[in-house]
Amino acid sequence: MEKFGLDEYEVFALLDELYAKDTQYKQVLSSMCTHPHSIAVKAHQRFISANLGDPGLFAGTAEIEQKVVRLIGKLLHGEDAAGYLTTGGTEGNIQAVRAARNNRNVKKPNIVVSESAHFSFDKISDLLQIEVRKASVDDVLRVDVESVESLIDKNTIALIGIAGTTEFGQIDPIKELSGLSEEHGLFLHVDAAFGGFVIPFLDKHYDFDFSLSGVTSMVCDPHKMGFGTIPTGGLLFRENDSIERLKTETPYLTSRTQHSLVGTRSGASAAAAYAVMTHLGTEGYKKIVDYCMNLTSHLVTRVRELGIEPVIEPVTNVVVLNLPEVNYVREKLYQKGWVTSITRKPVGMRLIMMPHVTETMLDAFISDLEKVITSTDIRKH
Ligand code: PLP
Repeated sequence: MEKFGLDEYEVFALLDELYAKDTQYKQVLSSMCTHPHSIAVKAHQRFISANLGDPGLFAGTAEIEQKVVRLIGKLLHGEDAAGYLTTGGTEGNIQAVRAARNNRNVKKPNIVVSESAHFSFDKISDLLQIEVRKASVDDVLRVDVESVESLIDKNTIALIGIAGTTEFGQIDPIKELSGLSEEHGLFLHVDAAFGGFVIPFLDKHYDFDFSLSGVTSMVCDPHKMGFGTIPTGGLLFRENDSIERLKTETPYLTSRTQHSLVGTRSGASAAAAYAVMTHLGTEGYKKIVDYCMNLTSHLVTRVRELGIEPVIEPVTNVVVLNLPEVNYVREKLYQKGWVTSITRKPVGMRLIMMPHVTETMLDAFISDLEKVITSTDIRKH
């Protein structure tokens, strides 16, 4: 820090210079986040100083947080679920597994996840010193329930189902996992960080939430398809007992205990999530999901005209294209300003049809994709 500060104009000149280096969402096809809704931004600003880590000081904001938990609970058929707002799916997954571990006295605990799981489970393995067993997937990239069962032993404390996988947007067979977890007396945590604000609004019905009696906890993030501000995740437990396993005493705060992983927490995020959920209602979210799914169908139809197939028929608004020389194609597209991403297994080009994507933007992208794949360059490459 310099001894004397700059005036606001100079500070913003510095900030603007760096902001200009950020990629604008209008070229981003690789992100599960998007522009927050304007009402969320407004609410976020109003509550900018509120700290949920000290809820006695911010009683109104603490009430808002619980209202958001109830709204998410209602969406996921868990009206009585207990929970709190996290920084996102990673924190939610860590805390859910931590609660499962604290619930059982197992010396060398393990959990079983799909090999398609988000990398937060690798962090969990390291942080909590829990073995993370990876089950194989079926031909449409859902976790294989037989493979899951074969990995369960006396040290297994939880199964994980994913509702909206990060790479393929696929939904695991949560109903079967629910049955399996009840049969073996295990926690079943459903990672719906992305899918939680998508799956309830799809035309096709999926059993994936607290309506299944084996589901013990879920994550569902407002800062992804919920149109909230970053950072906002939701962590919900079916039973209050489970969240109690996360309790720490907080001697010098206005509350006596805390369940969250982090201490100081954004009240602004809670206000933003409440504002947008209350403003949009389920009809509003349905319109957004319809919009994203129409873009998804449009993309698939247009790439098929170019002879390109998706790796799986999209289930949510994630499309993965089966392309030869995918990294070369992505690089060429990047030079034209498009940011795409890649999947691990099978390898493909991953495109997420978020609300910031428009049909015009998509058509411009497809036109560039066509140029890249028909260029002599790619054939020589
Ligand atoms: N779980 C799933 C299914 C995700 O897609 C993601 C992120 O994309 C996460 C967890 C991690 O969420 P976050 O980045 O908010 O911590």
